[in-house]
Amino acid sequence: MGKGFFQVPAAINEPVKSYAPGTSEREEVLATYASMYNSTIDIPLYINGEEIKTGDTAVMTPPHDHQHVLGTYHKAEKQHIEKAIETALEARKKWANLNWEERAAVFLKAAELIAGPYRSKINAATMLAQSKNIFQAEIDAACEFIDFLRFNVEFMTKIYEDQPDSTSDIWNRLEYRPLEGFVYAITPFNFTAISGNLPASAALMGNTVVWKPSDSQIYSAKVIVDIFKEAGVPDGVINVVYGDPLMITDTVLASPDFAGIHFTGSTHVFKDIWAKIGANIHTYKTYPRIVGETGGKDFIIAHPSANPKQVATGISRGAFEFQGQKCSAASRAYIPKSIWGAVEKQVLEDIKSFKMGSPEDMSNFITAVIHERSFDNLVSYIEKAKKDTDATIIAGGNYDKSKGYFIEPTVIVTKDPKYTTMCTELFGPVITIYVYDDKDWKTTLQLVDETSDYALTGAIFSTDRYAINEATEALQNSAGNFYINDKPTGAVVGQQPFGGARASGTNDKAGSYLNLLRWVSPRTIKETFLSPSNYRYPFLGK
Ligand code: NAD
Repeated sequence: MGKGFFQVPAAINEPVKSYAPGTSEREEVLATYASMYNSTIDIPLYINGEEIKTGDTAVMTPPHDHQHVLGTYHKAEKQHIEKAIETALEARKKWANLNWEERAAVFLKAAELIAGPYRSKINAATMLAQSKNIFQAEIDAACEFIDFLRFNVEFMTKIYEDQPDSTSDIWNRLEYRPLEGFVYAITPFNFTAISGNLPASAALMGNTVVWKPSDSQIYSAKVIVDIFKEAGVPDGVINVVYGDPLMITDTVLASPDFAGIHFTGSTHVFKDIWAKIGANIHTYKTYPRIVGETGGKDFIIAHPSANPKQVATGISRGAFEFQGQKCSAASRAYIPKSIWGAVEKQVLEDIKSFKMGSPEDMSNFITAVIHERSFDNLVSYIEKAKKDTDATIIAGGNYDKSKGYFIEPTVIVTKDPKYTTMCTELFGPVITIYVYDDKDWKTTLQLVDETSDYALTGAIFSTDRYAINEATEALQNSAGNFYINDKPTGAVVGQQPFGGARASGTNDKAGSYLNLLRWVSPRTIKETFLSPSNYRYPFLGK
């Protein structure tokens, strides 16, 4: 703190724009999309503010139009990772000692840049790189990212305000130091907001960062880099590297100054990283903070009292928005026999009305899945379901990768509640439904809890308060984000702190003060005004 107890602007959730026909935001984002589509870009590494072109490049293409080249990015070699670490450690000397309000100003400015001048660019980049329709891009790349930045500043001040008791002769203080070393951020393809937030949240708390975005998100990550630069993030505070994830990670984890990892991605990758950190533990100067938000096998369970239309809408939106590529996407549902007919009818009608294609055509609700690897993986499960006798595909099941990686929204109904697609995270537009006997409500709750290794999100639909209460109790450990009469996706920063337990992550709740606490190492300072000058306590007297 410099010379005042400053108050930051109260954080508010960024309003979601409609992009309805005729709106200026729609015209602007479409024009930006067209101009980005029709030009190419060459993306360097960013280390200490320097743009580094290694010459070893890979191309970037939109998932819905994979023969169209958007540009190239440069891949790092080991020496670049070592340079990024060195740079982060050097930059830490100034950044960690800067007054908090200066750091707050940088990230508040970044939020305003996204809300205004960069909004159409970050949305168009997300439509192109990750094939999000405009609504999915807006709620992610614009609104959620802005919310992370604004709310984290407010949470930071709340953390700093939290101070221990003192007495008249002793003043106790807590100083929320950044971690000693540097933080490594590894980000997934599916949310531009997460990509920006993982390095930014650690940097906000005074840390310096080596950031490795997903290969499939580098195009929109580049817009984040530009925003951070314009907002005033100093050189060396966030260093950006791309390339072989194994080489990059192994190099980072070999550093004695590695102080923490901020990861979002799949469970097996995170577990491997954790094991490597464990194996290297004697190397480190400090115990690294390990924060990882990982996979999910998110459920919807309906009680016989549920409103079928609400359940169906929960499935249609919860399973298929952004092609089911949300960690929170509903991918298994348990529906009682008595309402299944009505739910099924509505879901089939919804799916029939979905249009699929490029996000540039705003009437498309469904766009492409992220890459060929994901496409092929999803196809293998769909083909298996077509053959298996205990599974029936009642909607979708077709796919085509000739132009883009398009997979029809697919509904599998199974007689086996432990069927492979009830347990495994597929990460695509596929939901599996198990229809249970109404009388088996209680055992079905147990089934929901026991079926998957994950515990990220889940939803109960019911109009019966006792049933809601029963499900809330029975599923206490089955989801870190639990929804009553709503789809299990769409957590809002500042409203529903997000994260799951079990194989879904360390549950450090992105979008809350709990996450920021992981990026500080508090120092307690006790100051005694009248120091004792005689060791003898009264009890020693005669
Ligand atoms: P991914 O695990 O394939 O990749 C995530 C990041 O890890 C990328 O940057 C990737 O390059 C890197 N990576 C891949 N292999 C690596 C390795 N061996 N060592 C080090 N780094 C490696 O995940 P993805 O496909 O980008 O994202 C989808 C996954 O992320 C899903 O499992 C989804 O559930 C999860 N996710 C979870 C949350 C959450 O909050 N729980 C949010 C978003 C995504």
